[in-house]
Amino acid sequence: MRKSVGQKMTVASLESSRKIRISSENGIRIETSSFTIALDPKRATSCDYSFVSHAHIDHVHVAAGKSKVLSSKETTTLAGLRGYDLGETTEEAEHIDLFDSGHILGSKAILIDDRVFYTGDISSRDRAFLKGCKGIKCETLIMETTYGKSHYVFPETEDIVRRVNAFIARCFDRGRPVILTGYPLGKAQLISYFFEHWDPVYLHDSVYVMNSAHIDLGVDLRGFPKFEETSAFAAKLGRGPWLMIAPMSSGRSALAKSMREKYNAAIAAFSGWSVDAGYKYRMGLDDAFGVSDHCDFNELVGLVRYCSPSKVYTVHGFAEEFAGHLRTLGFDAEPLPSKADLDKLSNYA
Ligand SMILES: [Zn+2]
Repeated sequence: MRKSVGQKMTVASLESSRKIRISSENGIRIETSSFTIALDPKRATSCDYSFVSHAHIDHVHVAAGKSKVLSSKETTTLAGLRGYDLGETTEEAEHIDLFDSGHILGSKAILIDDRVFYTGDISSRDRAFLKGCKGIKCETLIMETTYGKSHYVFPETEDIVRRVNAFIARCFDRGRPVILTGYPLGKAQLISYFFEHWDPVYLHDSVYVMNSAHIDLGVDLRGFPKFEETSAFAAKLGRGPWLMIAPMSSGRSALAKSMREKYNAAIAAFSGWSVDAGYKYRMGLDDAFGVSDHCDFNELVGLVRYCSPSKVYTVHGFAEEFAGHLRTLGFDAEPLPSKADLDKLSNYA
């Protein structure tokens, strides 16, 4: 993650944000004339509200203090399973609206005062049980730019599913088991959904916990058994090819090495970063597929056009580069300024 650095703050942009002040401080801090809200703070805040967009570890915190926590019930449950107690949460507050952001189960974007839209992590693409978010018309857009460089363009999901099925079939024909890897929350459930027709399929521990939570929360996933490190289970694995869904992303991890040695397993990863040249070899993988839970570069541009904002602030990943690209398209865009940057430019009270 790159630090957002304020640049070229103009008097005009300060004027337009006169009544709502936005800065990066312990996540993103927004001050309106009637309340304060922290967006994805890293720790408890003194704001009136704390918004937890989704249950990935870099977006959750242990809630404490007087802030009312805004998050979906799915995020509250999933964060709890990962050791982050968000306390009592709600999806409703005056002048605040939450929208599905299409990133993972329960992920939300937020519209504040009908003017400021913060995407959190977002995908505009429909995938398996997740519906993409196209955006919301707004005055000010605060958007993630994880893949905000022009070469990050992901293939159509159907094409990837076809390629992965061919990869699995080739491996199975040679008697090789296959390990499909991705983040245990989000990617692993998409993999489980897309490749549920293979048999047998086993889940690594952390994936099993997250898949079970998805099923409990009403997602239509097949209930695969857990991978076990017992001799009886090892004997079963030795009988023929199988599929395992696991969280590791490197083919050089201890688990990957052991699976290769014992079973000659082939290992493939699902990641947006696989678009980078040499990713597969650098990570020691048999194959890699460009599936992401984020917008790719073109989808980020589409999101901005859809929201049609008069001001864009970029956060995460290629914030400088993407803001620069938006300026060439005629948008007023810059990386989100820090609180210190704003304090230098304004005495807003
Ligand atoms: Zn995320």
